[in-house]
Amino acid sequence: MKKAKLDDNIDEKIEEKLYSDDNIGVTVFKCQNCGGETIFEPNSQKMKCLYCGSMFDINNLSVAKERDLDELLKSGNVWDETEVYQCKTCGAKEILSKQEVSVKCSFCGTNNIIKTDEIPGIKPQGVTPFKLDKIKANEIAIKWARKKLYAPRNFKKSVKAENIYGIYNPVFTFDSQTITWYRGVLGKNYVKYRVVNGKRVAHTETRYFNINGSQDMLFDDLIVQSSTSIPSEIIKSIEPFPTKNAVAYKTEFLRGYSATTYNKSGEECWNECKIAMKERIERAILKRYDYDIKVSLSIDTKYLNEQYKFILVPIYVGHYNYKEKLYNFYVNGYNGRIGGKTPVSKLKVSFTVLLVLLLIAGVIFMLMYF
Ligand SMILES: [Zn+2]
Ligand SMILES: [Zn+2]
Repeated sequence: MKKAKLDDNIDEKIEEKLYSDDNIGVTVFKCQNCGGETIFEPNSQKMKCLYCGSMFDINNLSVAKERDLDELLKSGNVWDETEVYQCKTCGAKEILSKQEVSVKCSFCGTNNIIKTDEIPGIKPQGVTPFKLDKIKANEIAIKWARKKLYAPRNFKKSVKAENIYGIYNPVFTFDSQTITWYRGVLGKNYVKYRVVNGKRVAHTETRYFNINGSQDMLFDDLIVQSSTSIPSEIIKSIEPFPTKNAVAYKTEFLRGYSATTYNKSGEECWNECKIAMKERIERAILKRYDYDIKVSLSIDTKYLNEQYKFILVPIYVGHYNYKEKLYNFYVNGYNGRIGGKTPVSKLKVSFTVLLVLLLIAGVIFMLMYF
């Protein structure tokens, strides 16, 4: 019963998005049978007509290809078939394909959103399409909330997930071959015996040694988030996203969905990626030696054949509604992993604290009297 209701709401919203006044007379992505609007449908990975339900293949699908990094750093590849909307309540920025009008903010659920003059930025070359639909995301959200230990009982009994929207989150993936020259000083401890007052006494000494050499490493599809709209610890909790299977971007994938704008540039993301690579290179170098103390290690890395992909990964954002307050949750649109917040029952937390205190008191009592 509830499921059906949610589904109706979603369809209504999509219709609102597609059939507001701004869209009249625009003919894009029409159904070949009835002329209705089509949206991307995750279960079939096809375009579906909102009216007659006809399904259409997305033509000319291909795998997203890497591009040379030079291209990114001088980039002028603008994503022009889209527009940026901003929420006046929470400040979130969303990208929608032209002719679509978002009625509600995906992040805070208010309908206080306005179109901006901002340019959406660079066009993604790949997308990991949604594999789960909204009904499934809703099921996952409700199951998860019911299992929450400290959530109030009333909340769990009639848990409601609202405003579920599919949002594509932008990420960069980088590939690079690396050659690193290094030098440093490491120390290895050993035990030495001395005779003090006629007794053999052990003590530890350290032998220091110089290291130098080169280390080659290959990095493939290192992911760097380029948007901070969704907290990074949430993203971490719902990873992975299969960026390797990303398909070449087509506007069709955005129909019925939105994307978040990126707020870290390609260059910033590449620098972040270099830090991550540097850490892994250092670890690989140190693994080659038997040592206890790292005194110093300096490395000089050359990056070769650097390539990148700018791709969109699928996330459902929704809200739990409890006592007039909204709590955000996020579902990985590919594998269904979920993260976010639920209300916390003060009573349940207090009860647990009390129980722990009683246990401690019990242990002390036992220690004292038995
Ligand atoms: Zn149709
Ligand atoms: Zn908002």
